[in-house]
Amino acid sequence: MSRDAATDRYQHYIDGAWTDGTGGETFESKNPATGDPLATFERGTEADVDTALEAADDAFEEWRSLSYIDRAEYLWEIYHELRDRTDELGEIVSRECGKEISEGRADVIEAYHMVEWAAANARHPHGDVIPSEIPSKDAYMRRKPRGVIGCITPWNFPVAIPFWHMAIALVEGNTVVWKPAEQTPWCGQIIAEMMDDAGVPDGVFNMVQGFGDAGASIVDDSRVDTVLFTGSAEVGHEIAGKVGGEPGKLAACEMGGKNGIIVAEDADLDIAVHSAVMSSFKTTGQRCVSSERLIVHEDVYDEFKVRYVEAAENVAVGDPLDENTFMGPAIEPEHVEKIHKHNELAKKEGAEVLVDRADLNEGEIPDGHANGNWVGPFVYEIEYDSDRRCLQEECFGPHVALIEYSGGIERALEIHNDTHYGLAGAIISEDYRKIHRFRDEAEIGLAYANLPCIGAEVHLPFGGVKKSGNGYPSAREVIEAVTERTAFTLNNSSDIE
Ligand code: NAD
Repeated sequence: MSRDAATDRYQHYIDGAWTDGTGGETFESKNPATGDPLATFERGTEADVDTALEAADDAFEEWRSLSYIDRAEYLWEIYHELRDRTDELGEIVSRECGKEISEGRADVIEAYHMVEWAAANARHPHGDVIPSEIPSKDAYMRRKPRGVIGCITPWNFPVAIPFWHMAIALVEGNTVVWKPAEQTPWCGQIIAEMMDDAGVPDGVFNMVQGFGDAGASIVDDSRVDTVLFTGSAEVGHEIAGKVGGEPGKLAACEMGGKNGIIVAEDADLDIAVHSAVMSSFKTTGQRCVSSERLIVHEDVYDEFKVRYVEAAENVAVGDPLDENTFMGPAIEPEHVEKIHKHNELAKKEGAEVLVDRADLNEGEIPDGHANGNWVGPFVYEIEYDSDRRCLQEECFGPHVALIEYSGGIERALEIHNDTHYGLAGAIISEDYRKIHRFRDEAEIGLAYANLPCIGAEVHLPFGGVKKSGNGYPSAREVIEAVTERTAFTLNNSSDIE
């Protein structure tokens, strides 16, 4: 049973059993659109993490000894469950993290694409045959699981990102201890129920609910071989710093961005406006790839500005469960405050405000949703200056700067690259030379051309450079973080060299 009937709280999932926490503390998940509590969860402690790690450690030898195909069987079960329940689970995502309903479903769809990709990998495990330099020898590289993988995930893709981390880690023969984000424990609960229903052997998958202290207990424990983290730069850098001091332990961290879209003088402005609106306002700007800087050539600046501002004025903010809503609420009241602070900072730094819907009018807030975490688009124009903090710091909200540039693509790239982050960016242009220069010179891990910078196909590497990432806890690249590589050489000759 997943919920303790006596206390009405959801439990941790440790060693194949629903387990009470040791700390006695609980926390609530809330609907960001209404402020209503959704459910109560155990708050994990260091002792809970310790029990989960012990279970994962104990289960490792048996799990790794199974074939890839046998391990993948459990994931196929989960794949079908996610597919069959997409509408229902999409609604839960929407209710718990406030995403518009189409985005809630998209989160579940991305999750099953990732599970499908990982399970299908079992049919062609990754390794390399590398011919030896000596004819009488054979050589190849064989992968082995690393052991116990600690997974720490954010709230904004509460179903997809956990599977970016865990699907491949499990297929490759590792065991897992996962801490979902404290804002989305209900989604965590559902994933744990799926693992349980699929019959994943005891101890192979463990979930401890809770906050950053539980996450830190995972990071600090010597039984953890790899930490996979997706979240803010502050926490990711702290984790990378800690793990960096421990030889033999790995951390792959994916963090935020201060992403930009370049609109060149030859851009198709229909594509430009559409891409910018999608990338800056979908999920209320709370995507790691959301664009907060639009770098627009002077020849098209005025027309782009008029069209983008009109679109931002008309973005439908509202009940995330309404299919017509483009943008739902922010995740929590503290985040609304943070977004307002970023807007104020921009004003202080000389922003000319073009759209200010940060405080929604009463009429814009849907009935019965007065206690939701509402915040609307805030768009401003500002002269580019490297020292402006509003052009450097991730807001993680519908907060967008328009920056006019003159000159060639070199100038656009100079502005684009002038941030400590390096996650995602796009160029809108009809000139393939500019597009290729952007591909090669933009200091980012995810580059788009004539597309919104909004996501990526699951089999592509997903990650950033500079302050945005160190390793890819997702897609194909996660294999590097969850496997050891052994270079094996066999002497076929009886000569001893
Ligand atoms: P966050 O860093 O606050 O939290 C992420 C997770 O880390 C949560 O589970 C949290 O409990 C845990 N945590 C907090 N402190 C910790 C500590 N000291 N040690 C270990 N774990 C700790 O991030 P968030 O607010 O959940 O997510 C938003 C951020 O995530 C944004 O910056 C966004 O850009 C980024 N993000 C990045 C990607 C990507 O792939 N690059 C994807 C989604 C989100």
